[in-house]
Amino acid sequence: MKDCIFCKIASKEIPSSIVYEDDRIIAFKDIEPQAPVHILIVPKEHIKSANELDETNIELIDHIFLIIRKLAEDLGINEDGYRVVNNCGEYGGQSVSHIHFHLLGGRKFSWPPG
Ligand code: 5GP
Ligand code: ZN
Repeated sequence: MKDCIFCKIASKEIPSSIVYEDDRIIAFKDIEPQAPVHILIVPKEHIKSANELDETNIELIDHIFLIIRKLAEDLGINEDGYRVVNNCGEYGGQSVSHIHFHLLGGRKFSWPPG
């Protein structure tokens, strides 16, 4: 999609520190990390937010969570634990309107979120 920063990262129009890529998804380091490990997992297809998900996206989301598990292992945060976050819409704090999952690790997180 035109003018979407994550579509541009997926097409390599904008550079990023890619940690994983396949035909459906790309995972790269967040430009403003909130933890020692902060990776964004992004489908290459432009889906605006979790509000747009339906039955046709189930396999994509399954795939994303399988890759998140593998990335957590590869990055050595699986044993201590980690957090996966999807911000949806204004109240959820979503700032980029292309669905993405944050993988955060390397420190202890508090609850409830701010
Ligand atoms: P959201 O607030 O929508 O849940 O998350 C968007 C995330 O994208 C933020 O954590 C922000 O730091 C990150 N981000 C925004 N623009 C860029 C960029 O150009 N490159 C990278 N690597 N991350 C970005
Ligand atoms: Zn997009």
